[in-house]
Amino acid sequence: MAAKRLTILGSTGSIGQNTLDLVRRAGEGAFDIVALTAHSNANQLAEQALEFGAKFVALASEENAGILKTLLRDSNVEIGVGPDALVEAGKRSADFVMASIIGSAGLEPTLAAIEQGIHVGLANKECLVCAGELVMTAVAQSGSTLLPIDSEHNAIFQVLDQKQPESVKRLILTASGGPFLDRTPAEMYNITVSDALNHPIWSMGAKITIDSASMMNKGLELIEASHLFGRKSGEIDVIIHPQSIIHSMVEYVDGSYLAQLGSPDMRTPIAYALAYPARMSAPVPKLDLTQTGGLTFFEPDLEQFPALKLAREALNTGGAATNILNAANEVAVAAFLDKKIGFLDIASIAEKTLDKLGRANLAQSDLASVLAIDEQARITATESIQGLSRS
Ligand code: NDP
Ligand code: MG
Repeated sequence: MAAKRLTILGSTGSIGQNTLDLVRRAGEGAFDIVALTAHSNANQLAEQALEFGAKFVALASEENAGILKTLLRDSNVEIGVGPDALVEAGKRSADFVMASIIGSAGLEPTLAAIEQGIHVGLANKECLVCAGELVMTAVAQSGSTLLPIDSEHNAIFQVLDQKQPESVKRLILTASGGPFLDRTPAEMYNITVSDALNHPIWSMGAKITIDSASMMNKGLELIEASHLFGRKSGEIDVIIHPQSIIHSMVEYVDGSYLAQLGSPDMRTPIAYALAYPARMSAPVPKLDLTQTGGLTFFEPDLEQFPALKLAREALNTGGAATNILNAANEVAVAAFLDKKIGFLDIASIAEKTLDKLGRANLAQSDLASVLAIDEQARITATESIQGLSRS
């Protein structure tokens, strides 16, 4: 069989590295690396390009371009720098593109990949949160197959009967609940960056780890599921399942529940997408149900995790609301990681930004308006953060 031509947008991140781990284990001839991209980690990007024989690399930030060029000067690897180079990477002819940039910065390169009409592995959930209609329209027009990488959405994709949508009653997203499930509201005030980066189950990049701790991640996933599977907010439930063994479920009208189970390791959904519709082996720990102990489930506390409530409200509002929520959250998480604001400020900055801009009833009909609203929400959120530090 011919090698699968693969591009990884965000190859230096947690999903990108896990994808390359599977490529490495699949051995010579299974994959041919077309393009790899990073934001500023020139050293790792160059190392990956040389190890995997990438044809093209793109670095978003100009800052370390000199390092990248020096490291690759004796190779045939083509180099691009700046946001346009990322879009170029998404456009390069491939059989599969892994969209694993973090945040709305991944939107344009991911759209470029979708426009190729190929298989796209979507880890970059923020694309669907900021521009769900636009992305799903591009998928329909190009004939691309969007393969969810998020473990919950990948689980649903595996057990959903796409041919009989009327047989589906509900999607049930499971959530580990992150590290702060047992904290009282008063204890939530003193959460530090290192507390929040210490996820009990999943090892991931910093931004999604903070989102998991605030449960904004589950809110973003609710919005993601709504677009991916064409379901209204009322048809998608969220339940806490701290062991993260059942990755999500579908309830059918006859009372059947179909679930996908596995050890919590992102290489399972990544392998599923890379090999789709076939299967490939992944080096994940075997799931030994005799050793896992009890599986527990309970309702999330929306007072303790206001971000989840906010995300559902934004989904119900529709229009630009989820785009505003996403941009404000990205700015607030970066400020928290920079120790400029407290943990509970993240959701309150997102709420304030929605209050300020949501009332303007912004319409977003095309890419330009999506990007303009994203920018406006970032400015508004930044002003709110400055207001907090002055008070
Ligand atoms: P990481 O932070 O580990 O990696 C992000 C990648 O994107 C890196 O390659 C980074 O480059 C690049 N990047 C960051 N900012 C920009 C930017 N402004 N422009 C272009 N490239 C940029 O993230 P994760 O791998 O954890 O997450 C990636 C996506 O997958 C997210 O949307 C996340 O929600 C989703 N996801 C991740 C899971 C996980 O297990 N990690 C699970 C489920 C979903 P550099 O290294 O140079 O900074
Ligand atoms: Mg997830």
